[in-house]
Amino acid sequence: MKWWGWGVEGVSFHHEDKPRLAPFVRDKVGIDITTPAASAPLRFEDLDIPEPQLPDALGDRLTRAVGAGNVTTDPMERLVHTYGKSVRDLVRIRRGQLGRMPDVVVYPSSTEETAAVVDAVVQADAVLIPFGGGSNIAGSLEAPAGETRTVVSVDLGRMRKVLQIDEESGLALIEAGAQGPDLEEQLNKRGWTIGHFPDSFSHSTLGGWIATRSSGMQSDRYGDIADITRGLTMAMPPAPGQEKGEVLTLRPLPSTSTGPSVREMVLGSEGRLGVITEAWVNVKRVAEERVVLGYFFPDFATGLAALHEINTSDASTLVARISDERETQFSLATSKRSKGLSKYVTKALMAYLVRKGWDLDKLSMSFIGYEGSKSHVALQQRLVREIVGKHGGIVVGKGPGVLYDQKKFDTPYIRDFLLDRGATADVSETAAPWSRLKPLYDNVIATAEKAFADIGCQGYIMCHLSHNYHSGACLYFTFAIAYEGEDVLARYDVVKRAIQGEFIRSGGTLSHHHGVGVEHSPWLEDDVSPAGAKMIGRLFDGTDPGRNLNPGKVV
Ligand code: FAD
Repeated sequence: MKWWGWGVEGVSFHHEDKPRLAPFVRDKVGIDITTPAASAPLRFEDLDIPEPQLPDALGDRLTRAVGAGNVTTDPMERLVHTYGKSVRDLVRIRRGQLGRMPDVVVYPSSTEETAAVVDAVVQADAVLIPFGGGSNIAGSLEAPAGETRTVVSVDLGRMRKVLQIDEESGLALIEAGAQGPDLEEQLNKRGWTIGHFPDSFSHSTLGGWIATRSSGMQSDRYGDIADITRGLTMAMPPAPGQEKGEVLTLRPLPSTSTGPSVREMVLGSEGRLGVITEAWVNVKRVAEERVVLGYFFPDFATGLAALHEINTSDASTLVARISDERETQFSLATSKRSKGLSKYVTKALMAYLVRKGWDLDKLSMSFIGYEGSKSHVALQQRLVREIVGKHGGIVVGKGPGVLYDQKKFDTPYIRDFLLDRGATADVSETAAPWSRLKPLYDNVIATAEKAFADIGCQGYIMCHLSHNYHSGACLYFTFAIAYEGEDVLARYDVVKRAIQGEFIRSGGTLSHHHGVGVEHSPWLEDDVSPAGAKMIGRLFDGTDPGRNLNPGKVV
């Protein structure tokens, strides 16, 4: 990945083919995106990269553990492993504010090599930070400012194989460094899929997903990574006075009743308990049919009620999401120039809705996907169509669904584009019971608007419901603020803090799937209660008394 932004070099976001976007951004955020980029990242050559602090004895031991070619102090490698991809990370790295960079990056190729690295780092009283794809947005990777010990980044990037498929059970054993496309390609060749597709799929890893409790856009059918992960292997730190740490091995089991779940302790541990090297995950046969349809509702509240009813009905969906009116307006503004028949159809559809008495400014767009056998998909579509109709919504066909599928992994590039042009955009997501969802939504929008006013900035906030559960759902907010000058992060913090605080006040969680890191840790006690936070802290301290493993994350 680029060190200064999202994705691969040479790929970026463009607005020229989306004629409605520039006026929309000017109106909502007050910046002109048609002007050339005003704020570019520093050049790599101009960064002030500190010399690595790597004692010879530790360097030798790491080299013995993984081989000479797999230990590096190369400045670019260290830079790429410094931060994740949060707005704070991007703003700092683009300005050359590099914090406490790792001194060395190590690439093990097996559980044995990883265990040897963990042992070496802990015995040298250094700091070890596991690195997957570096895509987290919760500050889960950076070493604490002022850390005086050597910082070792352990990148699992050489461990990308699907090792085994238990076809009878629908389980696959996969190395933790496999990124989404790696593992999906290997599984697909044999007719299987993991079904886990976070928006960061192209650049994030199985180990990172487990360590942050990730959730993919098809979680309604496949579950979150916490459901998908059935067993795992993790190299743990040696106890004080011991030479070697233990390797935790959890066999894949459909369910167990063996005390508090050790598997759940590892899920979301953000590298604080050890380095996950392999995991057993549920896999399913690639479905015969997959369809994503677009639906329109007259407003968000109506659409939310419909999705709730779908969720409690007999219908089973692959994905069911709905955007509020603000996000719907944004999506329509990012659609490409339509030509020919599609232009005619869009116009005719909008005219029809106006005739029906809909206020187009309140339009709420939804995507609902189905997967399985042809007959199953047909039945689910029918069940959903009835509920949508009952709530006054309409089916608008496959077109928007195809577009959504095409765009889903490209949208992240827009953040760098906006940063270059004077706006910060970020996301905050939560989950709450159905009974609290709409009030939470209203409160968050009002709180964000107040925060924009407090900092004297034009800003925009929008939302969609992205993951459904029996008792509630995830609401995913995206906000953007215009900025000028150096205080961009101070302003961003006011808005981010206001939104996170409102999540807790309104009965939601601090994060549904982005983890805690250092970004969300101020709200951990509010979320799990002071006693809960203490339990987590004691688990970390007991396992890693020297605070050698990714210190300061989560709690
Ligand atoms: P990293 O960022 O490398 O690491 C994250 C944390 O996990 C760190 O604490 C690290 O030390 C630890 N870790 C990594 N690998 C291991 C290991 N093998 N053993 C132990 N600890 C380990 N998240 C979602 O869930 N759903 C989304 O849809 C989604 N969309 C995103 C879109 C964008 C544009 C961005 C930037 C992020 C998005 N994220 C999403 C957040 C991010 O992709 C997830 O948190 C992801 O799970 C991180 O995986 P990673 O491999 O990149 O981990």
